[in-house]
Amino acid sequence: MNQLTNNCSSNHSPSLPTNENVLELLSHGEGCFYENTKVVALEEWYQNLPFSKEDMEDALERLERFAPLIEQRFPETMENKGIIESPLARINGVEGSNLYLKMDSHLAVAGSVKARGGIYEVLKHTEELLCQKMNWNCEEDYRKILEPQYREFLSQHKIQVGSTGNLGLSIGIMSAVLGFQVVVHMSSDAKQWKKDLLRKYGVTVVEYEDDYSKAVEEGRKQSDLEENSYFVDDENSKNLFLGYSVAAFRLKTQLEEMKIAVDEEHPLFVYIPCGVGGAPGGVTYGLKYVFGNAVHCYFIEPTQAPCMLLGMATGRHNGISVKDIGLSGNTIADGLAVGRASGLVGKVMEPILDGLFTVEDERLIKYLRWLYDGEHIFIEPSACAGFFGYEQIAKAVRCGNNVNSKSLSSVKEYVEKNHLQEKITQGTHIVWATGGSLVPEEERQKNLGNR
Ligand SMILES: *Cc1c(COP(=O)(O)O)cnc(C)c1O
Repeated sequence: MNQLTNNCSSNHSPSLPTNENVLELLSHGEGCFYENTKVVALEEWYQNLPFSKEDMEDALERLERFAPLIEQRFPETMENKGIIESPLARINGVEGSNLYLKMDSHLAVAGSVKARGGIYEVLKHTEELLCQKMNWNCEEDYRKILEPQYREFLSQHKIQVGSTGNLGLSIGIMSAVLGFQVVVHMSSDAKQWKKDLLRKYGVTVVEYEDDYSKAVEEGRKQSDLEENSYFVDDENSKNLFLGYSVAAFRLKTQLEEMKIAVDEEHPLFVYIPCGVGGAPGGVTYGLKYVFGNAVHCYFIEPTQAPCMLLGMATGRHNGISVKDIGLSGNTIADGLAVGRASGLVGKVMEPILDGLFTVEDERLIKYLRWLYDGEHIFIEPSACAGFFGYEQIAKAVRCGNNVNSKSLSSVKEYVEKNHLQEKITQGTHIVWATGGSLVPEEERQKNLGNR
């Protein structure tokens, strides 16, 4: 199998600029690395937490209350007693590395990272409705929610969401199973099979010829017009964010069980694909809370849809779109095809996110095939983005002074400036795989190609 990191002077590498000319390179659709220079000291961050420990614990406990219901309705979660969680798999194909894949691509029910935030928000909304109007209390057996009287009640309520595909799947499936009416507003990026699957669950799918921001805007507008309709707002949702943050607590347990030590000298390096920002933002927030300085987090976005990098580099967050700098927003990474970042998440990431990369579409396919050939794991193109961050960081160290392509120079500069060389060598690297297990066979073959 090819090694991800063995080629130090690849002329296929995109040029990776220093922060100064990042906007110019971004606007040309070139690959970049952006170091977030607004990171603050951990102590300072802990003193001004936008979401408290109680908020995250509340999410963890809610998911536990619902676990018996999930287990009953989705037997594939039986082994885990209704807790939807994913494996952490070691990737053996990269010699001398500690590379792991966090397989949210294989999360039960929705087959993507959206099974964390999306399902959580639906459950939270359900609980609130039942408490307000059905005298529900949190001590009850949550499996009762599947009984006709509650189902009948929930069927008088509607849930709506805007999506590029996967969020729609997670919200749609969970809501439909509980009895809600569901409307998913799909952007033009959404894959046909995702729409078909939702319709099978009885979900109403509204299709737009426009991008994700438009689908969200329209969905929000329509939902606001209806009395009993609740809109899951991916651009602003605190609930989604907290649902994602839970991953960090679960990962901590997993690492302990696998006897992988994590401390500041042996830190975690985590690479997460970023769309609007909710999923990578929530996960990063939880990780920073749990691991502090023993974790370094990076987002990876497509070169044509780098909304988070653009928002952070300009300080304008959701006040700027990739179209404003002449990019198309089009990418094969449908889960990342977002032109305008979440304002909520951008600001929350400012003090803690270490950096962002952009990656070209063709590389995503390369990683997808590499992973499948070596490990027999299939993940969707969006989910492969994290490999690019890992590859760049690992090369910046492995290639030493032998970096004769300018592609690595800014990553290398970042690594040296922050004295990360030894930490990178000794630490544990986690590529966050965000989706793929529900992709139909035909679609897989298209991604894998005729080889
Ligand atoms: C949604 C999604 C992401 C990114 O999540 P955001 O909350 O949009 O940033 C990454 N990968 C896949 C497969 C996704 O579906």
